[in-house]
Amino acid sequence: MADTASRPRLRDSVIVQADGGTLLFLCLADRTVKRFTCDEFVKAVVVLLDGTRTIEEIGALTCGGAAGAGARVAEVVQILEHERLLSRVAAPEPEFRLLGVARAEFYDRQLRLFQDFCDEGWARETSGAALQRRLAGSTAVICGIGGLGGWVALALAAAGVGRLRVCDFDRVEVSNLTRQVLFRMDDLGTPKVDAAAVRLRELNPFIEVEAVERRIGCAEDLAGVVKGADLVVNAADQPTPNDVAGWVSEACWPDIPHIMGTGYAYHIGVLGTSIIPGLTACWSCVRAETFADHGRDGMETLVGKRDKAGAMGALSGLVGNILAWEAIRILAGLPPALGDRWSEVDFWPLEIRSRPVPRRPGCPTCGG
Ligand SMILES: [Zn+2]
Repeated sequence: MADTASRPRLRDSVIVQADGGTLLFLCLADRTVKRFTCDEFVKAVVVLLDGTRTIEEIGALTCGGAAGAGARVAEVVQILEHERLLSRVAAPEPEFRLLGVARAEFYDRQLRLFQDFCDEGWARETSGAALQRRLAGSTAVICGIGGLGGWVALALAAAGVGRLRVCDFDRVEVSNLTRQVLFRMDDLGTPKVDAAAVRLRELNPFIEVEAVERRIGCAEDLAGVVKGADLVVNAADQPTPNDVAGWVSEACWPDIPHIMGTGYAYHIGVLGTSIIPGLTACWSCVRAETFADHGRDGMETLVGKRDKAGAMGALSGLVGNILAWEAIRILAGLPPALGDRWSEVDFWPLEIRSRPVPRRPGCPTCGG
């Protein structure tokens, strides 16, 4: 039985419509529709579920204080709660303001989304403000701040990840500007990390940005870069994508979740995989599953990959923002979507294709 002192509130993402003896709950968050048969009493109760009244008070309003009114209201509330149609907080705005008025205003729409994640039961926390605090308290490292990393950094800065560390050795060139969203004509010739840090701080004054100008040549080069990170997104591809990915994974294992294997060329965007130590397959298992494709392992290369693959901002931005969404999920303590699978987006049919990448039995890294 629902607590009669509670102040039940319908989720903000729920629309309720009535058609005679049927109530229809349209859940905008996932486009599901729930139908219930109802009477006039239930309809009267539903419109009062705005978090300002206790169950007893709603009973008094709908039944004029008749005996057992509170119990009948509690019964309706319990069904709605079971169907996840109620919010887990009676009044979200006061919770949001606990972040401080300036932050509550800055993050307003995002807090409402986070609140809905909590109401859906995806988070341990009950309040969207708690998820925002988790982001604010977290550190994300982005290796490579080009066509993917730039979009990831932009989205994580906007979302309020408290400390962003961006690592790159490159300088801004004119051919970067069609897809590397952090840079402008005025930045040509400056280190990418410096230009990126300026832009990210301009976007969100509530976060810290650390620029690390460094060329990565081995896992040891990354020890200081990943130190203290809650998540590393590898978007670097120099000297080769596989080399740098191996070093990043080595530097992160077994303490730091890392998003790996990302890239894009022509109309394929590679989302790669999320590696969560203790939870998902490790990078060696992922490589073992994907490297031998087409039986080309060990073949002699006659014509290799060109230095400059075709690319454009609209497409690299799509990949980067999907990766940022995955990063936010991991940092906010929500379930990741890209673990234990390898995913690519084909932008022509506009499809995401995934294949499983299981842990290898007896893998010395993750098989325990
Ligand atoms: Zn493994």
